[in-house]
Amino acid sequence: MTQLNQLQELMRTLRFVETSNHLTELIKQAEQNDHSYTRFLLDIMQYEQKRREEKQVEKRLKWATFPDYKTLEEFDIKEQQSLSKKQLNQLGDLTWIDQLYNLVLLGPPGVGKTHLAIGLGIKAIYEGYKVIFTSMGDLVHALKTEEITRKSKTSLKRMRDADLVIIDDLMFMAMDQQEANLFFHLINDLHDQTSIVLTSNKAPKEWGELLGDPAITTAILDRIVHRVEIIHLNGDSYRMKHRKNIFGQESVTN
Ligand code: ADP
Ligand code: MG
Repeated sequence: MTQLNQLQELMRTLRFVETSNHLTELIKQAEQNDHSYTRFLLDIMQYEQKRREEKQVEKRLKWATFPDYKTLEEFDIKEQQSLSKKQLNQLGDLTWIDQLYNLVLLGPPGVGKTHLAIGLGIKAIYEGYKVIFTSMGDLVHALKTEEITRKSKTSLKRMRDADLVIIDDLMFMAMDQQEANLFFHLINDLHDQTSIVLTSNKAPKEWGELLGDPAITTAILDRIVHRVEIIHLNGDSYRMKHRKNIFGQESVTN
């Protein structure tokens, strides 16, 4: 076995897997640039660290199950008059996640609730947080099948282990008693250890009729509004304003 192979094998054993896969390039680079031993070792350590972080982000983005890749940078604040640049920056600095604040994003369809929620989630992942995105429909399904399917069990386990859980389109559907109960237990588990972002086209005072049971609704609301920032997004639907017309051009009406 050559020394190089021996080294690569050792590195894998010692869990320097990324460097081991890239070792020939790193050595070549050091030789070409006449790097000192110290510099060479530093490059190796930094390479391993950078690749581990990248892989962590990739994994977390996959686990988050975002329906789209929409960033905060793509969120045009000029299109959303009900949110100031300063507020957007405050949301984007993510300190509310450390403080275990919840966010409720309210507004009619098409105003950017889901986009904003995904954008915040993606930023959070890049900053090292664990994030899970779910629609209310998928969440209820997972809760009802948690004991039956492995997939539901895994996704709920990840959710309970996350720093931020985004629940999109709350109350898009009415829930029966059993569903409302399961939902309450999840919120209770998450409460005090996870930030929750909820999007909804109904104001919290209307949630009662959709959740059915007033006692459960109160219990859920108590936990969510304990530390909460409620953001009303208004204005015309971005989707409608920027819809493509039949000639394939964007029709920006205003
Ligand atoms: P909602 O969840 O409120 O129904 P979405 O977030 O799905 O709305 O937004 C609808 C579409 O409009 C998406 O493609 C989204 O990216 C886009 N959109 C909405 N608001 C903005 C905005 N302020 N800047 C950029 N794109 C926006
Ligand atoms: Mg939406």
